[in-house]
Amino acid sequence: MNQNQIQLVPESLMQDKPMAENGLSYHAGSGRRHALVIGSGIAGLTAARVLTDHFDRVTIVERDVLPEEPVYRKGVPQGNQIHAILLGGLRVLEQQFPGVTADLQAAGAVSVNLGSEARLYMLGRWRVRFPSAYTALAATRPLLEGTVRQRLAAHPRVTFVQGVEVTGICTNEAGTQATGVKLRGRGGEAGAVPQIEADLVVAATGRGSRVPEWLTELGFPAPRETVVDGKPGYATRVYRFSQPPAFDWKVMYLQPLAPDQRRGAILVKVEDDQWQASLIGMGGDYPPTDEEGFLEFARTLPAPDFVNIIQNAEPISQIRGYRRMENRRWHYEDLPHYLENFLVCGDAVYAFNPAYGQGMSVAAMASMKLDNCLRRQKGDLTGLAARFQKDLMSVIEAPWQLATGQDRDWQNEPGTSNGRMARLMQRYIRRVLEAMMHDATVAEAFLAVQQMLVSPVRLFYPDVLWRTLRPHGRAVAQPRVEASPRLNPASKSPL
Ligand SMILES: Cc1cc2nc3c(=O)[nH]c(=O)nc-3n(C[C@H](O)[C@H](O)[C@H](O)COP(=O)(O)OP(=O)(O)OC[C@H]3O[C@@H](n4cnc5c(N)ncnc54)[C@H](O)[C@@H]3O)c2cc1C
Repeated sequence: MNQNQIQLVPESLMQDKPMAENGLSYHAGSGRRHALVIGSGIAGLTAARVLTDHFDRVTIVERDVLPEEPVYRKGVPQGNQIHAILLGGLRVLEQQFPGVTADLQAAGAVSVNLGSEARLYMLGRWRVRFPSAYTALAATRPLLEGTVRQRLAAHPRVTFVQGVEVTGICTNEAGTQATGVKLRGRGGEAGAVPQIEADLVVAATGRGSRVPEWLTELGFPAPRETVVDGKPGYATRVYRFSQPPAFDWKVMYLQPLAPDQRRGAILVKVEDDQWQASLIGMGGDYPPTDEEGFLEFARTLPAPDFVNIIQNAEPISQIRGYRRMENRRWHYEDLPHYLENFLVCGDAVYAFNPAYGQGMSVAAMASMKLDNCLRRQKGDLTGLAARFQKDLMSVIEAPWQLATGQDRDWQNEPGTSNGRMARLMQRYIRRVLEAMMHDATVAEAFLAVQQMLVSPVRLFYPDVLWRTLRPHGRAVAQPRVEASPRLNPASKSPL
């Protein structure tokens, strides 16, 4: 890691003065000199990378002290649970940081052919095995985030300020425009930096974001919230095998499915020959985190393979539970008025039930929306806040529908029914799921959609439609290979 770029609070900021008095004024409001991002999760890192193309300097303020090694950190409490990056998200990361796929592979990330090396159990059977055009990467969240962070830290216009927490937004005298952020050292130590000025402030503060409070403190309306809570829970443990395992796949997913199949599990091979094993419970059927309870829950899964495997593996971590995973959306797109030069992105705007592994990929895609908005922005940054928050919706809508479709069934509350069209759609998707378990063409098309490589409209193309709606039992083994390119580690630009 480049230590020049990842600093605790830089010396110049350590006095109890605004930056302008330290000779580092960014002339707030003068255009595109300094952008500041709050939070160094995937949303913050990808937004910051985009901002380097539009601003002279980019500062990322992070409350955690960032680790040198790829290890779990407190500011991302979900970081020790399974984190899959979808191919759509990886494609954006590769665009932003050319060669990052190869970096991840060099650091031990595991290539997984999604048709032949990923097993899926659902609707009482294993999905057909086939050579897919799609090969994904499996890695822990700390490895993925640490690799991207390292690449960003090497950028000459980027500075990380770590171990300090943003406590609010500074504005111009009229209170209409953000001009920077207020800070305190974690725990509010004396001598902490009071503020940093910036022309644009981007909050990527995650699911526990305090942005709504910051806005109301400034007299701006807080966004309304939508919550769809299927009450999901994870319990995760890391294992290792003393002997190479006797199977040739790298991912096993026993998928929960409303309304009956509450329990599921995922087993994924990641770097350093580790296997992350997660139990999933839906509808409040939370998996236990004690040894006996964990195994007992695993024994009740619809297929015995998961428990048989983990019983023969060596646990190398504690069992860690996680429950705060409801779908939650803050509607920044329809605020009556906006604090200019202030944007919100990532889980601070939309946080999904992670069962579909969409969060990091949507964050990366949303950063490209920011790029697009900045390219279209003429003159100063007035109007950018409203435009960006509205444009963001086009990235969020499809993953939101996917994540909440099932969870509305688990929520099972009066008044949450989606209407006739949505119910019809759900019935069709259920038929697609049934068909893909035995039909490789449907399975391949579903993978392309699920990996966020193509629009969900792909599931309505004639080849999928026909295979889905005809009477079952006449499987077609060979998939039609999708147009999107394969991830090829040997090629210079795999995506
Ligand atoms: C159990 C679980 C499993 C998941 N699995 C997957 C998966 O398989 N695939 C996937 O794509 N997504 C998954 N997600 C979602 C994923 O974690 C997020 O979508 C993703 O991390 C993007 O979030 P972010 O960058 O917006 O926020 P975060 O990753 O939460 O980062 C927010 C950052 O902001 C910092 N911060 C917050 N407030 C302040 C402040 N005031 N001052 C300074 N710094 C601050 C935090 O320390 C943190 O570093 C999962 C989530 C959960 C809960």
